[in-house]
Amino acid sequence: MEHKLPELPYDYNALEPYYDEQTVKIHHDLHHKSYVDGLIKAEQQLAQARQQNDYSLIKHWEKELAFHGSGHILHTLFWENMAPTGQVGPAHELMDQIQNDFGSFDAFKKQFSAASAAVEGSGWAVLGWNPIFQQLVILQAEKHQNLTLWGIAPLLVLDVWEHAYYLKYQNRRAEFISAWWNIVNWQEVDQRFIKAVK
Ligand code: MN
Repeated sequence: MEHKLPELPYDYNALEPYYDEQTVKIHHDLHHKSYVDGLIKAEQQLAQARQQNDYSLIKHWEKELAFHGSGHILHTLFWENMAPTGQVGPAHELMDQIQNDFGSFDAFKKQFSAASAAVEGSGWAVLGWNPIFQQLVILQAEKHQNLTLWGIAPLLVLDVWEHAYYLKYQNRRAEFISAWWNIVNWQEVDQRFIKAVK
């Protein structure tokens, strides 16, 4: 599979005022692209290692693969799980599951916000479906690839690396998180849930 930086599904300024045009542009065009490039490079280097039967740098390139590959996946999900303001909440299938697994939609939002705010250093908050336990779970992902539960299908992801918010929000990560709820694309999250539980 050839990895490519996906087009943004909206204009750079479409998420204003919650997510500013300049950050979206730099974040997508430069940061996300660097993960796509890093993934391609890791795959090329692994192919070369197989060809030359030289695995002396295997640890390095496997690590690069996990980091950049996860970065590419999470950013792709992130752009698509946002949309211009005016979004309604989740549809009843997902809403029922949220109420079942977190007690209420409000409790879910509070836990997700708290998890996002408390990510140590650079990382993500992830709402995922665990097909083995048959339940929703909120995770913190450090960097892009650490602290996951294997087999999780990510449904809603929030980037809380400083590059995701610093231009507009500086050190006020919690303010970015609270603004971000206004631009969650619940339709997309609903579709991911339906697909994941099938
Ligand atoms: Mn990012």
